[in-house]
Amino acid sequence: MNIKNRITLFSTVWLLIILLVTNSGIYLLFQKNLHDNALKGTETRMESLTEAVKTSTETKMNMTQLLRAYLPGDSMIRIITGDNRVAATSSRITDDDSVQEIKPTYRPNQYSEVKTLNGMVYTVSQHPVIWTDGDVVSLQLIEKESSIPNTLQILRIVLIIATLLILIPSYMGGRFLSRLILVPISNLTKTMEENQRRGTYKRITINKKSSDELNKMARTFNHMMDLLENNYKKQEQFVSDASHELRTPLTVIESYAKMLKRWGSSRPEILEEAVEAIHSESIRMKELTQQMLILARDESQVDLQLEQSDLVEMAKNAAKNMNKAYDRDIQVHSNLVEIHVECDSLKIKQVLIILLDNAIKYSSAAINVELTKQGNSVRFSVTDYGIGITKENLDKVYDRFFRVDQARSRDTGGAGLGLSIAKQIVSAHQGKLYLESEEGKGTTVTLEIPVKQS
Ligand code: ADP
Repeated sequence: MNIKNRITLFSTVWLLIILLVTNSGIYLLFQKNLHDNALKGTETRMESLTEAVKTSTETKMNMTQLLRAYLPGDSMIRIITGDNRVAATSSRITDDDSVQEIKPTYRPNQYSEVKTLNGMVYTVSQHPVIWTDGDVVSLQLIEKESSIPNTLQILRIVLIIATLLILIPSYMGGRFLSRLILVPISNLTKTMEENQRRGTYKRITINKKSSDELNKMARTFNHMMDLLENNYKKQEQFVSDASHELRTPLTVIESYAKMLKRWGSSRPEILEEAVEAIHSESIRMKELTQQMLILARDESQVDLQLEQSDLVEMAKNAAKNMNKAYDRDIQVHSNLVEIHVECDSLKIKQVLIILLDNAIKYSSAAINVELTKQGNSVRFSVTDYGIGITKENLDKVYDRFFRVDQARSRDTGGAGLGLSIAKQIVSAHQGKLYLESEEGKGTTVTLEIPVKQS
């Protein structure tokens, strides 16, 4: 059974149960009220009858005549003796065998009840009286309440009609409501199926005015499609950039290998040059693939080994090592002697090396490293006074494989992945990377990370 039918069926059955319970309550209450009123009437008439019987016994009046005189329409009076025998009967009830089913039972006290026999209602009232022969008998008045079954029949019809009048529009309403809810869901399913079949990223049309849950669901779906499409495009771009980057060293290796095959054994200078080139290109490829592997991971998947590390010491060590390797002047300044932060020291060191490496590659003057601890965050900046980056390229430098000057960067050894990796590591630390640069004057890259990790 589909959801539409399930919703309709559930709401209708639920309403039907509520109506049945309420209507039964109304019916039973009304029935009791009718029975009570009828019984009260019978009891009142019984009291007058008892009085009359008492006086007539004293005045020795004709009892049969008296009973007849007091007998209301559609009723019967019986005198029941102590041995449950009927001593006298006076009746106006005709063509009714059911009344005979009420057994004559002697009752020493006042007694009254409502009896339903074969769909007909009878009220029975009994009083003990002294009969003409001096014995105590039970005077019984039975009244046939013909109007009660009729009234209840009318009530039943009214309640059934009212139930149908409520159920039919509620059933239609249920169907309408379920359609209203399910149309957007089936639209979503259709779009998803189409996307799956055709490999597209189709969005759902959104009603801008509405802000209900279904609209929210459609928005979420569209947002998810945006993300998927974006990721897919990025992935495609990454794969094409990566293969493009790897093609160059592979071509170099291939051409040197050809040279080796042809002249390698006869010309030792070619042998040396080829081996040297193949070796350096293989190292470049190895580095490139390592960097690509890092970037292939999402920043949320970066596995951080958190520990307390002194960033001042880390910066000083990195500066010393870079100074040794490249013979460049790198100054480290800090507003505190030690700045301890909970971070993955190896990864933060990697960021520091990427920034210092860029500063070394794109400048020739001294490089400044500045550390400041302010409140709950640490700022860490690397400033160089080199070629700088133009405004239009500032936002692009974080893109994978982006290099301002392709030819020059290739010479300097950069593949355009350094800043992307740095940004990924900093984001994994819930930090930020800022870039300020002026063409021809220099660049400052600042990394900011919180002191306490959440
Ligand atoms: P690469 O490994 O090529 O340096 P990056 O992602 O680190 O890759 O940098 C991307 C590009 O941004 C570089 O190719 C370079 O053109 C530019 N760039 C990065 N840092 C600097 C800097 N300090 N000064 C000038 N240009 C820079």
